[in-house]
Amino acid sequence: MSEAEGDSKASESESAAATGDSSTQEKGAGEEAEQMEYFRRLFARTLGLSQEREAAEAEEETPRPQQLLDEVTVEGIAKYIRDGKCRNIIVLTGAGISTSAGIPDFRSPGTGLYDNLQKYNLPSPQAIFEIGFFKENPEPFFALAKELYPGKFKPTWCHYFIKLLSLKGLLLRNFTQNIDTLERVAGVPAGAMVEAHGTFYTAHCLGECRKEYTQEWVKEKVFNDEVPRCPECDGVVKPGMNLVN
Ligand SMILES: [Zn+2]
Repeated sequence: MSEAEGDSKASESESAAATGDSSTQEKGAGEEAEQMEYFRRLFARTLGLSQEREAAEAEEETPRPQQLLDEVTVEGIAKYIRDGKCRNIIVLTGAGISTSAGIPDFRSPGTGLYDNLQKYNLPSPQAIFEIGFFKENPEPFFALAKELYPGKFKPTWCHYFIKLLSLKGLLLRNFTQNIDTLERVAGVPAGAMVEAHGTFYTAHCLGECRKEYTQEWVKEKVFNDEVPRCPECDGVVKPGMNLVN
């Protein structure tokens, strides 16, 4: 799931929760059905597995793709995996798998990070993740980091599912946009992961020496409300998540 999809799904369910009226549960169930239908259609379209696709292909007179799934549902995919027909599974993950662990995503109205940064007096919400702003004024980033620090949250079933795929020798790679390290906490091997936006798991000095520091070293400073500074050259030590220009 892409971050954008994850965010929009999260914001849909949160806006349902925020309404608090008696139809909220029905709305939630409706949204869930809607989401399932969305994924069913997505898989049907992209994997070439449905009658819709067959009809479209008949029109285009292109060869029909091999049918892989008995049915285009989560159960159909599970059966396909259980039958031993796929051995190299790639999992793409984003904010949506960590919001249920309590970690805010970026863009959900009300609960997203960007809506809750007023106390840091930033020139713009995005500034907290800009490297130029960070170099001048790292305090807001570390104050936020303290709130979101790895160790304060537990992995979700989804994270453990990725670990399970790995234990069964079926996981080729997990590409994640998340920086919360919950995949590592769940036990997904580092070698099976690509942390596309970096991670809190590593850190290095932005000063002259560029020395690497451990997550534990940075964490101690952050939890003492100190900006982590390199003892060698006094540079700010930045966790390994990517900041934008
Ligand atoms: Zn240094």
